[in-house]
Amino acid sequence: MTKNNRDLPGALLAWYDRHARRLPWRAPPGAKPDPYRVWLSEIMLQQTTVVTVGPYFERFVARWPSVQALAASPLEEILTEWAGLGYYARARNLHRAAQMVTDKFDGRFPDDEAGLKSLPGIGDYTAAAIAAIAFDRPAAVLDGNIERVTSRLYAITEPLPGVKPVLRRLVAEITPRQRPGDFAQAMMDLGATVCQPARPRCLLCPLVRFCEGSAQGIAAELPRKAAKKARPTRHGIAFWITDAQGRVLLRKRPEKGLLGSMTEIPSTDWREDKPSQNAAANAAPLALDWSPLRGRVRHVFTHFSLELEIWSADVEESAAPEDTFWCRLDDLGNQALPSLMRKIVKHVLTAK
Ligand code: SF4
Repeated sequence: MTKNNRDLPGALLAWYDRHARRLPWRAPPGAKPDPYRVWLSEIMLQQTTVVTVGPYFERFVARWPSVQALAASPLEEILTEWAGLGYYARARNLHRAAQMVTDKFDGRFPDDEAGLKSLPGIGDYTAAAIAAIAFDRPAAVLDGNIERVTSRLYAITEPLPGVKPVLRRLVAEITPRQRPGDFAQAMMDLGATVCQPARPRCLLCPLVRFCEGSAQGIAAELPRKAAKKARPTRHGIAFWITDAQGRVLLRKRPEKGLLGSMTEIPSTDWREDKPSQNAAANAAPLALDWSPLRGRVRHVFTHFSLELEIWSADVEESAAPEDTFWCRLDDLGNQALPSLMRKIVKHVLTAK
């Protein structure tokens, strides 16, 4: 740390004491954070915004107030509560990690980065964040907000993600031994409320006197990012099948892979080539007289965009084929239906 920025942690913590965001998972000032709440929030916040996570977090802690309660819950119920939050492997790992903490660690979370990383779903960033926030370890925490603040503070012009190790080293240098958890949360809050992506509000910033990016007038252009690969589009056909009782046919997805263990409207595979009519009819769970619905359902996943056509058909009566089940429309809200599947339901109900 240079002589100049030796005062940086103190300046940031003084700002944090006045301007910290109130978030449902944060302990009140002076109170010890509950590692269970810190862990749960950090897993939910991977790839998801604070605003989206808020209501999910509140529902989870109301229903499962401790790691033991979460471990004892059937996975199905956790997936149903998680539905809509995306990246469903997180929910399965959450359940496995809760069981490990309960069975192997006697209900107590490991209190350092190495121990935390032995739990499913916890990588470098999450381990550092939990170690700092829940256990006040001087871990270098680097999330998207902190990457941006640090790139600007040091006027780092090399692009992400390659420059991450440099940023982590710089964060480690300025993380204080006193209140490292508050320091990490202060950096996150500064990034979210002051050092914002397109419009850094340097005039309001407690770190302006330390900030090279602001001094050079290049802060708003930072951090630079390496060009992303174009996202391919995949296509498929989903089958909306209802019976005489108005129930819809659903299927559970395989445990492994995208949307693993979640519930789905059955469909063809999703491929870059559109399926032929014959291939689609063969992939359907029942051989029926199909009517294509107007319009398409579109959804964006991390690595591809998806465009689904919907075919609908009614059956008088049918046993549900293997791996599928009938569900009343008013019970759909109790199923682990990810956002894409909810879009399909909405599309069908609007089109019909
Ligand atoms: Fe960000 Fe401006 Fe503060 Fe630098 S001075 S950290 S660019 S808000």
